Amino acid sequence: ARDAYTDARPGSAAIHARAREVMPGGNTRTVLFYTPFPTAMVRGEGCRLWDADGREYLDLCGEYTAGLFGHSETRILDAVKSAMDRGINLAAVGENEGRLAALICGRFPSVDQVRFTNSGTEANIMALAGARGFTGRTEVLAFRGGYHGGVFTFPVGVPVSPVNLPIPMRFADYNDAAGAAAAIREAGDRLAAVIVEPMQGSGGCIPATRDFLQALREATQETGALLIFDEVMTSRHGFGGLQQRLGITPDMTTFGKYMAGGMSFGAFGGRRDVMAVFDGHKPGAMPHAGTFNNNVLSMAAGCVAMGEIFDEAAAEALFARGETLREACNAAAAKHGVALHFTGVGSMMNPHFRKGPVTAPYKAGAEEEQMRELFFFDMLAAGIYLARRGMVALSLPVTDADCDRFLAAVEEFCAARKPVLT
Ligand code: PMP
Repeated sequence: ARDAYTDARPGSAAIHARAREVMPGGNTRTVLFYTPFPTAMVRGEGCRLWDADGREYLDLCGEYTAGLFGHSETRILDAVKSAMDRGINLAAVGENEGRLAALICGRFPSVDQVRFTNSGTEANIMALAGARGFTGRTEVLAFRGGYHGGVFTFPVGVPVSPVNLPIPMRFADYNDAAGAAAAIREAGDRLAAVIVEPMQGSGGCIPATRDFLQALREATQETGALLIFDEVMTSRHGFGGLQQRLGITPDMTTFGKYMAGGMSFGAFGGRRDVMAVFDGHKPGAMPHAGTFNNNVLSMAAGCVAMGEIFDEAAAEALFARGETLREACNAAAAKHGVALHFTGVGSMMNPHFRKGPVTAPYKAGAEEEQMRELFFFDMLAAGIYLARRGMVALSLPVTDADCDRFLAAVEEFCAARKPVLT
């Protein structure tokens, strides 16, 4: 399979060889690295991609959820072009950041006020800084398997190194309500914040149980720590995010990915009294700087994306399409009696090469890793582009016919590779 992959992609191989001379691993984004070399894409349209060798793919990676609108949504392209026509770097406040902020505050229950960043990583850094400033406390509780950006990644089974920890951290197990509540109480008034993904995205599309999140909500209310939902990925799961669907309101929420129509983006928001720590009208306000925080392209695209395109009907239709697809994939795996289970919520799902249900993050063994690799390369050979870990993130241009095509490829994989039951 690897030989066929390499033989079919001389263009991608050449791009990788040149990049390797000047970039370690030929790469500037770990998630896009895999051996022997990653497929290089040169063009996208709707939910289709073309690689450096002219091969076409159905794009179900959806830029790890940032590509919600596909590659050529005309309203977003028009917004970006018309913003560009008025100048790219104005070094001044503009009208669109207030517009986009109003759109976001208007839909997420926990967000009275919001500020923008360039990425989800920065959004989380600033939310934690804000929580520490507001509470006057230092420590933060996060969960094993969680991912909150390049500097806040906590894979299961990998010791956390102090090198990538700017903040004193504690850890608890995801979906262990009692354990997490005990950890919060034990930290007491040293704990500034609890940060959690309401569905672990990078950790394998593992949904949090409502009980778990509710336990976090109650324990933090008791101790005075702030509860932060990282909805960088999951905010797409409803008009008001996954928090609205679950009916649990955190103190702060962070965003990123698709919200600026695919342009670089991040945001953090929350309760008015918490966000007031950043209010420049007040003496001693916390600084929150960033050259590109209000860049005109992201702000203009974001207004159109959130104000005109991703409305309640679009969010619900996307959610339903994903639920249907995940159920169909799991039914296919069950029919074949193989060790394959897709976890997820709505339009996001991740295959696990074990018998379901999968309710907590785990460290996969060598056999499962091998199956994951086969799955990725088999899908590529079938003309379907996924995240390397197998994650699917549906975008708005994806049709029922596209979903059927993926389902057929999953069935074919089950029949050909027969992942064994564990
Ligand atoms: N939080 C979550 C839940 C994410 O999935 C990601 C990105 N995969 C981030 C934060 C970081 O966002 P960014 O890559 O824009 O820095």
